[in-house]
Amino acid sequence: MAKEKFTGVKGMNDMLPQDAPIWQHVQKTCVGVLEAYGYQEIRTPILENTRVFTRGVGEVTDIVEKEMYSFTDSMNGDQLTLRPECTSAVVRAVNEHNLLYGTTQRLWYCGPMFRHERPQRGRYRQFHQLGAEALGMAGPDIDAEMILMLARMWRALGVGPVKLEMNTLGAQNERQAHREALIAYFEAHRGELDEDAERRLYTNPLRILDTKNPEMQALVEAAPKLLDFLGSESRAFLNRLEELVSAAGIEYLINPRLVRGLDYYNHTVFEWITDKLGAQGTICGGGRYDPLVEMLGGRPAPGVGFAMGMERVIELMREVGSVPVRTQTDVYVLHHGGESQTAAIALSEELRDLGVRVITHPGEASIKSQMKKADASGAALAVFATADELANGTVGVKALRAGASAYAEQTLEPLEGAAAKIAAALAH
Ligand code: ATP
Ligand code: MG
Repeated sequence: MAKEKFTGVKGMNDMLPQDAPIWQHVQKTCVGVLEAYGYQEIRTPILENTRVFTRGVGEVTDIVEKEMYSFTDSMNGDQLTLRPECTSAVVRAVNEHNLLYGTTQRLWYCGPMFRHERPQRGRYRQFHQLGAEALGMAGPDIDAEMILMLARMWRALGVGPVKLEMNTLGAQNERQAHREALIAYFEAHRGELDEDAERRLYTNPLRILDTKNPEMQALVEAAPKLLDFLGSESRAFLNRLEELVSAAGIEYLINPRLVRGLDYYNHTVFEWITDKLGAQGTICGGGRYDPLVEMLGGRPAPGVGFAMGMERVIELMREVGSVPVRTQTDVYVLHHGGESQTAAIALSEELRDLGVRVITHPGEASIKSQMKKADASGAALAVFATADELANGTVGVKALRAGASAYAEQTLEPLEGAAAKIAAALAH
């Protein structure tokens, strides 16, 4: 019988061991920054009832119209969807557990999202977002704080310059007036609309501005701008946001065409964009979504959040060469099997008690072949718990690469106290 070779699902990637350090580094760095601003983690299931997203994201959006992995639960007929984004899920959980009762919440999440898109560089069917939601706080100070927090993350990650674009979607009534002007404008240019635009003309004309069709760029460029429909409150909101972002020394561009793909936004929307990743250059998007908590069944409460695409951020870091080198092993312990192995295992445990990352050679082999493994492991030090050394109550220690200079020459250490000395040498 021919052997069957299995492959993963198209557009869904394995994260291989060699990529683990960078993924862990990005999450750890971002979480460090999030904690500096008082954010706490929340985890929601990757499956939700489909209604959470159709309601939360909006019916007339790319996500809901064509990107969701939805299915019927064969056990009970429930309509379920693999989460395409996490904001709706977080708000669902916050409402369900009354987390906003008389208080505010600053929450972050990190995990896989699923969208049925055409896979290409920077666009996958399973991808990962790290995001945050600030709930119960209405002012532009919180929107600005979120921008500052992201700027701090970009600095900490060393992604190089990324452009901040901001816009406002105003308030509901302002969008309504703008919407009517947009419909009138696009009706007057009906012949130039593509299929998507035609379909959205009456359901979601704002979204037409978001088109990626190059043939429609001139048309949307000249369309009525929401900025011209803003009342004094929305203007003041945007002005204060701009003031605070400028005061922090962060450069930005107001892009009137930035409307973003999700339905629930009002006031602030923003994106961070790089020109180093081609068409998939948006590494992070976010905005204010004051209507969402109530739309998902909660008591009205304002919210603002962002989501960054981890794959794109990591790709950018590789592009600008800011991927940190971190070996995965500090010490490789060699031995002669039997009692020597028993001593090697005990010494390894002692080292681990001191926070050292250790590989004890598995099984038995010649010292020469163990040394090859030690070298390949990336360890800084080789420790010889070999029969002859142990017979003298010592172990041998030798640096395998530049760094642990105390052991540039192979050195004998008394077994008693060896672990502490080795750990100290590694700390230098
Ligand atoms: P795009 O315009 O690129 O489709 P979007 O508006 O659909 O993006 P959001 O829903 O705002 O994206 O998601 C926030 C971030 O998540 C994006 O800025 C991007 O970095 C990342 N992202 C979105 N979809 C994908 C995907 N299919 N693969 C990888 N990353 C993605
Ligand atoms: Mg999209």
